[in-house]
Amino acid sequence: KNTQHDVESIPYFDEKMEEHAERERSILRNLRLLLEEKDLKSDIFFLHFQPKISLETERIMGFEALARFRIPVYGMIPPLEFIEIAERNHLIYDLGLLILKKACGFLKELDQAGKKGLTVAVNISVLQLLRKEFTSHVEEVLKEYETDPEMLEFEITESILSDNFDLINLKLRQIRKKGIKVSMDDFGTGFSSLARLRELSIDAVKLDRHFISRIKENEKPSYISIDIISMAHRVGLMVVAEGVETEEQLEFLKKHQCDYAQGYYISMPLEKEKALEMLAKERPGNGFRELSS
Ligand code: C2E
Ligand code: MG
Ligand code: MG
Ligand code: MG
Repeated sequence: KNTQHDVESIPYFDEKMEEHAERERSILRNLRLLLEEKDLKSDIFFLHFQPKISLETERIMGFEALARFRIPVYGMIPPLEFIEIAERNHLIYDLGLLILKKACGFLKELDQAGKKGLTVAVNISVLQLLRKEFTSHVEEVLKEYETDPEMLEFEITESILSDNFDLINLKLRQIRKKGIKVSMDDFGTGFSSLARLRELSIDAVKLDRHFISRIKENEKPSYISIDIISMAHRVGLMVVAEGVETEEQLEFLKKHQCDYAQGYYISMPLEKEKALEMLAKERPGNGFRELSS
């Protein structure tokens, strides 16, 4: 009986695996095409921008750039999927530079729209960071786009800290010396202790969405967020909450002195044009609530 079951299931698995392999080949082919063309205006690869607000003023302080890849047949590919494929196939370095250029291009547009002082955060893969030429290439891009380094932020996920701590920390120090801010992304999901956090050369931590989703007034899981916020403040770091989806979470974070917030409750990640439109509605004193259409 068992044997029969196995025999029957093999074609099904073969088919699934073949479908998966075909999807990956297609993503890879399209990534290679993209990087050969080096087409900054490409409409298959672009960035969305998610507003980040100050919890004190409720005003937009900046944006996080999130990569978007839309390919024939398969449509939108989630960034976690194509980033991982790019990493495995040694394409992440060039892809990362393309992303950085697009982000710096957006900063330039903000500038031209009279919106100086807003930051743009870019997610950086550890494989980019560990490459010897990384800091000098970053410097070249900043020069090319006349980017003020103070307006640029790099987000590095906490999970990378399990190996190479000293080397990574050295790289972060070099980057910060140029004026670029560094945040630890998805904080709370990895292995960083308070001691580690104090040693690490960063400016802010981004409290992982997983903690935020558990925020309910007077419920125990919420206290973890409070602890992380006060612990981060004690070592001189700013705190950004990610994945804020409700008014209740926003008020809770405000009450407990979290500095910044991002999430669907405030705004989805937006197309570049939509982000600029939103900013155009800004008036002195009005917060994010008055800006969404
Ligand atoms: P991340 O850096 O932690 O980005 C936050 C993710 O949460 C984004 O997903 C964003 O769209 C989503 N998000 C924002 N607000 C909410 C909310 O209120 N609720 C929920 N459930 N989700 C929310 P996305 O765009 O799919 O990106 C996923 C991950 O892919 C990112 O996580 C980042 O690790 C990676 N990624 C995205 N763009 C890039 C990139 O340009 N370079 C690199 N290396 N990684 C990137
Ligand atoms: Mg991020
Ligand atoms: Mg994050
Ligand atoms: Mg996250």
